[in-house]
Amino acid sequence: MARGTGRFSAFTTRIKCGRCGGSVIRCANHGGPPLWKCGSRCGIASVRESELREISARIMGLPEFDSEAFKSRIDHVEMEENGRLRFFFADGHTEETAYTARRRAHSRSMTEEQREQFIAKIKASWVKRRLKKETENHDTPDSSSQD
Ligand SMILES: [Zn+2]
Repeated sequence: MARGTGRFSAFTTRIKCGRCGGSVIRCANHGGPPLWKCGSRCGIASVRESELREISARIMGLPEFDSEAFKSRIDHVEMEENGRLRFFFADGHTEETAYTARRRAHSRSMTEEQREQFIAKIKASWVKRRLKKETENHDTPDSSSQD
């Protein structure tokens, strides 16, 4: 991989799963925020990339995430079972912080199809409500009643 071009490469190979010892990998999560989850799918809760960046910056005492600082100061991060992240600093000390555990129900038990249907349903009800409101406001005589 070209040097300095991978915006998220700072985390690659540096996040470990505390449950099974596997590597935590980036999941593009189509349509949603990218997540980092255990590559062996052992079931440990995944973490949002945005949160990983925020936590990393905070733990390094920086105003915002800096991948170069992360690479030089953090040896690796371990995702713990209790919804915490343990940072292993290059100098040998560790720091632990909580993250917002993403429930598996959202990313794993819902299939892509179910997810699309779910989203379509929400959108449909929203559009319907909006149309209804507009119809009421405009008071057009020949618009048929939907209910
Ligand atoms: Zn695992």
